[in-house]
Amino acid sequence: MNEEEDISAAERKMQFLYALRSKGVTDARVLNAMEQIDRGPFIRGLFAARAYEDMPLPIACGQTISQPSVVALMTQALEVSPRDKVLEVGTGSGYQAAILSRLARRVYTIDRHRRLVHEAREIFEALDLTNITAIVGDGSFGLPEQAPFDRIIVTAAAEDPPGPLVAQLKIGGIMVVPVGQSDAVQHLIRVRKTETGLEYDELRKVRFVPLLEGMGKDG
Ligand code: SAM
Repeated sequence: MNEEEDISAAERKMQFLYALRSKGVTDARVLNAMEQIDRGPFIRGLFAARAYEDMPLPIACGQTISQPSVVALMTQALEVSPRDKVLEVGTGSGYQAAILSRLARRVYTIDRHRRLVHEAREIFEALDLTNITAIVGDGSFGLPEQAPFDRIIVTAAAEDPPGPLVAQLKIGGIMVVPVGQSDAVQHLIRVRKTETGLEYDELRKVRFVPLLEGMGKDG
């Protein structure tokens, strides 16, 4: 890489971080993780050149990689600590799981598309992100064999916070989930599980692909 390319890569990163701050990302650990994990490798083909723009982009299997500011705000809302075991439902490109892997002890991520999980595993291996386990399956039932979790993040929209996921959250745990119909405005909800029950916060409006039942058709 020559000096000019180096400078533009540094500028691009500064602009990327500036865009996150201007959208309300203030947590230094989250900003640091977003700085460490380059979004480029998670986007293949034509759209790779747009990796540093704050927008969702198409990936394989008709799915999307989320907008970086939404990834950062969801991560911030999850309040992950270095001791946490985290479940992500909706691996997609693997970008959100990679960000979480810098903040948590262990990350389990699950997607109904085999191809997406295989491609994400390749990237995790190339980046030496050894604390992520990527699994093919229907994440609406969670991952009972690894439960309970300190944190759960759902990156596809559900009609309600899925019951099995709420059940797999520890007392004191937090789940962040987009809730609403896929063709309507959805709300990002934070669920805290306490000794006395569940507390809900509505964080912001979002738009996600739907959480679907069963396995995906791969291709
Ligand atoms: N977190 C991803 C990333 O960083 O690229 C973006 C996720 S994309 C917006 C939503 C993902 O949820 C898709 O990959 C889709 O296959 C997955 N999905 C939808 N329903 C699911 C289910 N029941 N179980 C597991 N994954 C599901």
